[in-house]
Amino acid sequence: MNVLISTEDIQRRVREMAQEIARDHPDGVHLVAVLKGAFVFLSDLARALPGSCSLDFMAVSSYGKSTSSSGQVQLLKDLDSGLENRPVVIVEDIVDTGLTLTYLQDILRARAPRSLKTACLLSKPSRRKVEVQVEYIGFTIEDKFVVGYGLDHAEKYRNLPYIAVLDA
Ligand code: 5GP
Repeated sequence: MNVLISTEDIQRRVREMAQEIARDHPDGVHLVAVLKGAFVFLSDLARALPGSCSLDFMAVSSYGKSTSSSGQVQLLKDLDSGLENRPVVIVEDIVDTGLTLTYLQDILRARAPRSLKTACLLSKPSRRKVEVQVEYIGFTIEDKFVVGYGLDHAEKYRNLPYIAVLDA
């Protein structure tokens, strides 16, 4: 397992992202985290946010690999509260093809938030199948399967404090 992004680099970048988000949302922000992968990112991001902040969670799962290209995403857990007139930031672990985020942005935008932006710790632009707007990106990475800092392989490695490339 090779470390791709160290704990220190992640912590520094997440603090910068929190500052950017706070600057764009002077009246506070409602963070919507996507389980499970974003739970570590959310935890560090929320604690680094200087302003007022509230949280909610949703869980989604892409259908099997073969059908994920269709953009079908299953909603496993919906939000506890509505988004009407709230300044919302989606907190996601990684944007890969962009299909999951496109689905999420579409269903959340339909709930009439005052604003809707997206923060992703990682982005793999070379894998994109659909153009998706992400206002806050932590790191742009190559097309490699990564684990750690919330990201799993078969539910393992989420607890690693760094991002690593899984050996083939
Ligand atoms: P997308 O819909 O953008 O293709 O997929 C996003 C989801 O795929 C992420 O939320 C994540 O669950 C999963 N994913 C994409 N790339 C990776 C990766 O390199 N490592 C892990 N662990 N999950 C990934």
